[in-house]
Amino acid sequence: MSHCVNGHNPGSDGQAREYLREDLQEFLGGEVLLYKLDDLTRVNPVTLETVLRCLQARYMADTFYTNAGCTLVALNPFKPVPQLYSPELMREYHAAPQPQKLKPHVFTVGEQTYRNVKSLIEPVNQSIVVSGESGAGKTWTSRCLMKFYAVVAASPASWESHKIAERIEQRILNSNPVMEAFGNACTLRNNNSSRFGKFIQLQLNRAQQMTGAAVQTYLLEKTRVACQASSERNFHIFYQICKGASEDERLQWHLPEGAAFSWLPNPERSLEEDCFEVTREAMLHLGIDTPTQNNIFKVLAGLLHLGNIQFAASEDEAQPCQPMDDAKYSVRTAASLLGLPEDVLLEMVQIRTIRAGRQQQVFRKPCPRAECDTRRDCLAKLIYARLFDWLVSVINSSICADTDSWTTFIGLLDVYGFESFPDNSLEQLCINYANEKLQQHFVAHYLRAQQEEYAVEGLEWSFVNYQDNQPCLDLIEGSPISICSLINEECRLNRPSSAAQLQTRIETALAGSPCLGHNKLSREPSFIVVHYAGPVRYHTAGLVEKNKDPIPPELTRLLQQSQDPLLMGLFPTNPKEKTQEEPPGQSRAPVLTVVSRFKASLEQLLQVLHSTTPHYIRCIKPNSQGQAQTFLQEEVLSQLEACGLVETIHISAAGFPIRVSHRNFVERYKLLRRLHPRTSSGPDSPYPAKGLPERCPHSEEAMLEPLIQDILHTLPVLTQAAAIT
Ligand code: ATP
Ligand code: MG
Repeated sequence: MSHCVNGHNPGSDGQAREYLREDLQEFLGGEVLLYKLDDLTRVNPVTLETVLRCLQARYMADTFYTNAGCTLVALNPFKPVPQLYSPELMREYHAAPQPQKLKPHVFTVGEQTYRNVKSLIEPVNQSIVVSGESGAGKTWTSRCLMKFYAVVAASPASWESHKIAERIEQRILNSNPVMEAFGNACTLRNNNSSRFGKFIQLQLNRAQQMTGAAVQTYLLEKTRVACQASSERNFHIFYQICKGASEDERLQWHLPEGAAFSWLPNPERSLEEDCFEVTREAMLHLGIDTPTQNNIFKVLAGLLHLGNIQFAASEDEAQPCQPMDDAKYSVRTAASLLGLPEDVLLEMVQIRTIRAGRQQQVFRKPCPRAECDTRRDCLAKLIYARLFDWLVSVINSSICADTDSWTTFIGLLDVYGFESFPDNSLEQLCINYANEKLQQHFVAHYLRAQQEEYAVEGLEWSFVNYQDNQPCLDLIEGSPISICSLINEECRLNRPSSAAQLQTRIETALAGSPCLGHNKLSREPSFIVVHYAGPVRYHTAGLVEKNKDPIPPELTRLLQQSQDPLLMGLFPTNPKEKTQEEPPGQSRAPVLTVVSRFKASLEQLLQVLHSTTPHYIRCIKPNSQGQAQTFLQEEVLSQLEACGLVETIHISAAGFPIRVSHRNFVERYKLLRRLHPRTSSGPDSPYPAKGLPERCPHSEEAMLEPLIQDILHTLPVLTQAAAIT
């Protein structure tokens, strides 16, 4: 095993001494500054406290990246650090003979993956999983990697080809502002919080040039379009339109300056006008022309007016609720912007149609006020979610390379980190389920595989007890009974069932699971899942309804009547198309619940990840106020626990840092053997005799073994010689 020291210079401060592994203390003369420790596997002992102190020392010294064995820890600087992301630095990492010997950086991971994918011996697809809690810097890091590849994997020299390359790279980069405008929002924890998960596959040709990309998104938080928590905001794009539209556009979209919209809370922040221009420009680059853009913005303005329709409760249950007086203008404007007849729009929101009986007779029932609100919100969510999916497909058709023009890919995954709030529901269950899956992937790849390999190779190795989260996954998604299956079952049976009943069902059916927590102190119906990152209490109220994500079929039919070109495209009338919104009973295919769809897309993602060599970047938020130079130990500690960093370091520190296949090892070092031919191979020699070992005559590894021993014998001699000279 080699102890590479990455060029540490002994410092004058002995503060770090107690945290260093003994062998390194000796090597470094026992004097090293804690902040210079750029690999956490070197702290001693590896505990939460020592890791925390090292990260803190580095953060305060403006050093934001630290290796943790096979993982890179990225601390959010919360301030611009332009010199850290310059194209010059990108080229430096790209050109370095051994980038891992430079300071830890996101570019090291970028370059490593790029070299792996380029490897002539066994090119293999790569993936980088960027994780961390909201505001930790996942999207920043992913963007930074995309910029890195746009520089290092750009097409070379010739003017013409350079122009083409620039177009595709630029287009790929342009997908960021567009997806962020439509999918990000200002939340309590992050002013630019991604409200969807994203996996982008950067496609490379045989010459390792980026020829395209494909984006897959997960679980857009569409409820935000109609409902924003206090002090949070709607998706950025709405503010951008309101602040950035020209006078003319304001008139067309009925957005007079200073107009108040109930779905546009906290509009006081500025700068959105500039962003609108950036979004429009990026959309243009992606092939979304100005008329189409205007159509999109018109529909979004329609949604804002839709949100202003407030209903007055009806005194007579048989009569529909009417919009309040000042909302009549909103109904008219929303209808006109959405290309719908005003009376039909209103009626669809006010009145529920029920089909019953053998003849599927249609009954019309006026909805109470709360249901009118729900139907209005549902309409907005339906439009926004379709629009977002459509945008992603347009982006993909603009940036995706033809199948024969790429051979390998590097995947970047930017998904929500583990979440635990006072009130957790289906969204958190899905997110935490995804994180359990990713953690299992990580454990399987690095920890279990590594340990099993050592065992097979008979290497001396004290096994580390890693936390296997399979029992937790069994609890969430297992078969035949799990939390997911029970929630789905409730949706399928469509029976009235209270939150308390659901809690009882889950707790009874899954009582044997070691990951179902004891639920003693709860006042509201809930259950507890003990995740690898800690226990989370999920409230059962509303869980089944959210899982159904019911979309009244008449709302889809309403939108199919729209005369607006964009909506006509988003809601085609083609009767063959079976949509999620088809009413149960009319379609033989089972209606997919939110959980089932999420599970399916997660499995697909994991399949892709399994086919790649994964790399991990754990983003850490040093404080929740977004302040530079502020490192709050408590807050960082909980994030370190949540990502199981200490266990990762233990494994990496105890493991062998370099693994080389027999063939590659011989290829790389056979020259040494010729320089220092072995003198003895007699019975006293510590080296095995030449010739094929008897035990495994046909194994290539066995054939190479004597050669390897020979080279290993020579290496220390050469290293000593180099040290003396
Ligand atoms: P969410 O899960 O809410 O989407 P996130 O992990 O994607 O959060 P980012 O949006 O990437 O978080 O980062 C939050 C903010 O932190 C950024 O808007 C930026 O201001 C700042 N930030 C993150 N990383 C860096 C960095 N390396 N340098 C400077 N600022 C950064
Ligand atoms: Mg993000």
